[in-house]
Amino acid sequence: MTDIASRADIALKRDLCDHCLGRIFALVGTGTTNEARGKSARAEASFEREGRGEALQPHEKCWLCEDIFDSLPRFAEAIIKSLSKIEYNNFLVGTRVDPEIQGREERLWSEVGQETAEPIKAELNREIGKIVEARIGKPVEFDTPEVVALIDTRFAQVDLDVSPLFIYGRYRKLVRDMPQTRWPCRQCRGKGCERCQFTGKMYPTSVQEIVGDPIMSVAEGTDHFFHGMGREDIDARMLGTGRPFVIEIREPKKRNLNLGSLENIINDNGRGRVEVVGLRSSSREEVRRVKASAPNKTYRVEVAVHGKVDKAKINEVLQSFKRTRITQQTPVRVAHRRADIAREREIIDLHLDELGENSITFVIRTEAGTYIKEFVHGDKGRTRPSLSEALGVPCEVRALDVIEVNDGTSEE
Ligand SMILES: [Zn+2]
Ligand SMILES: [Zn+2]
Repeated sequence: MTDIASRADIALKRDLCDHCLGRIFALVGTGTTNEARGKSARAEASFEREGRGEALQPHEKCWLCEDIFDSLPRFAEAIIKSLSKIEYNNFLVGTRVDPEIQGREERLWSEVGQETAEPIKAELNREIGKIVEARIGKPVEFDTPEVVALIDTRFAQVDLDVSPLFIYGRYRKLVRDMPQTRWPCRQCRGKGCERCQFTGKMYPTSVQEIVGDPIMSVAEGTDHFFHGMGREDIDARMLGTGRPFVIEIREPKKRNLNLGSLENIINDNGRGRVEVVGLRSSSREEVRRVKASAPNKTYRVEVAVHGKVDKAKINEVLQSFKRTRITQQTPVRVAHRRADIAREREIIDLHLDELGENSITFVIRTEAGTYIKEFVHGDKGRTRPSLSEALGVPCEVRALDVIEVNDGTSEE
């Protein structure tokens, strides 16, 4: 007796459908279905029984699945109906199965072995997926489906798990006093109070809202998250070719967006405050890359100089900082949220841009993570050396612009 014949013979002490019988042998050979495996295993077992002068009972109702596979078209129909409410390019089917069915499957495995078996869910997912795929003409996607249609087979009830939509771009922030991301009011945490004039926010708007709100509205999503390649201070502008970001839209009903026209909508909406360029579709994978990347940056810094310093001295000092390393103890202003440690950072380049009566403006390119304000005023000796220390007079940043995020992908 073959292994299949003897195991099928044991399994068929109970009434099983071809799917449930075949699933015991799911991993034996490829290019066929469990139903076909079940038919041929049944034939082998029947032949064995005839040899013993016994007859196999005809199939009536499957002990294991209660003939759930007869309902495949109904499940597929429910999923197609549910999917019709959203836009998607691929999908995956998931199944919730009655725990009693799974319990019976495990009992069967304990009697006939499970080394070549697959669980009923796997077969249901695949077989429903095949029907849906053929009907809607969009492919099943296993790794990163845009939507998972989860069907509870007890009630043929479908829940959609819609993957977020990711859009990459670069933004420029043309104004000061605007945070990069939405910032809920500290006092009321977004509910609205007197302090925030019932806006629920610390600032009227943010780059995230100017960029995210129009996209969310077009995509008919429920929320957005902003992933920037670092962030500038609230009072700093972000100029040049802009800063890379990925915006994530949760539960979008539309995902095949016209990004060119969205770019126009955002730029109209953000006129004079925020601009975006180069919108294109992105992925969770790229969010990881954007967050992990630490490009060096170029700033224009306007500094108030409190004291008399001649031009020669200024030039000499600026020159002396080129290609040097400075040590920065965590600044006082961020010490409440960062560990207090000393970091070494490189000043890659630095040159004078403008010399005023009591001010200087210079352009500085530094390694990622350099605190520019502290480099200028010295942070009470926590940043050394500093511009203030080298010039021998107190200095402070009056205005700060990021003029380039040198991530190597900007268009210029
Ligand atoms: Zn069955
Ligand atoms: Zn508030």
